[in-house]
Amino acid sequence: MEQTQHAYFEGKIVPFGEAKVSVATHGLNYGTAAFGGMRGYWNAEQKKLFVFRPYDHFKRLLQSSRILAMDLPHTPESLTQITKDLLKLDGWQQDVYIRPLCYKADALIGVRLHDLHDEITIFAVPFGAYGKNEDGAHVTISSWRRIDDNVIPARGKISGAYANSALIKTDAARSGFDEALVLDNQGHVSEGTAMNVFIVRDGVLITPPVYENILEGITRRTVIELAKNELGLTVVERSIDRTETFVCEELFLTGTAAQVTVVAKVDHRPVGDGKMGPITAKLRDLFNDVVHGKVEKYNHWNVAVE
Ligand code: PMP
Repeated sequence: MEQTQHAYFEGKIVPFGEAKVSVATHGLNYGTAAFGGMRGYWNAEQKKLFVFRPYDHFKRLLQSSRILAMDLPHTPESLTQITKDLLKLDGWQQDVYIRPLCYKADALIGVRLHDLHDEITIFAVPFGAYGKNEDGAHVTISSWRRIDDNVIPARGKISGAYANSALIKTDAARSGFDEALVLDNQGHVSEGTAMNVFIVRDGVLITPPVYENILEGITRRTVIELAKNELGLTVVERSIDRTETFVCEELFLTGTAAQVTVVAKVDHRPVGDGKMGPITAKLRDLFNDVVHGKVEKYNHWNVAVE
């Protein structure tokens, strides 16, 4: 099958190269845009691509768009259908990453949210592993702080806010770390640059609550559900102190790109014994099985492109 890339752009599916905006576009100049990111997993046995939790991803995207006072004529269902149509036309027979982006589309000068025209675009690219997964990542605690709900809401996946993630990621990478954890203005651990964080203490799974300047991650939600229902773990949503990352038994990151990524060291200190712990290993395997359609009970999360 020929694999041409397409994009949903200004209300229709077009060849990728035709999906272009002006340099004066509001969303590009002021960061007044919001995006999503979901994965499509290729199932070689069924010869089909399955998108993981698209309705939940689009629900969150539409919530981000509301924060930016956008009024898009779409529902999670209509956007899922467009994505299926797009992927069918692309014909990928491998794992993909799907990027929807809604943006203030006017080409004009003037920072605001109101009296502007909104658009949404969607495209997909082939995508494999994002970061280290086997050996465990080495993370640092960033000297940058997480954006606050009263600055730019972290709960919205707002394009402009990713300048914060980019500052954090580049300083961490240039210092030789794989990733960074960032503290909020209260000094609590919020999340990574594009992933949520979990620690294990005394066998209890702990993650910051949604009101502590985090993105409400779909992978986070998935892992919480799997931990409770399949592993019978106690999950507590509470603030995490910086030094808890030094004394916890296990630490891992979750995200669409990162999936379940084990963290082996925080600022040169080993997490637990420095190897993947049993809870992280179980959750990672279970998550992989679920997204690859191997756990019947959760197959409603996998939406086939057909
Ligand atoms: N936090 C941030 C800042 C992110 O950008 C992402 C990636 N979307 C996540 C967490 C993880 O969210 P999800 O599991 O929905 O991909």
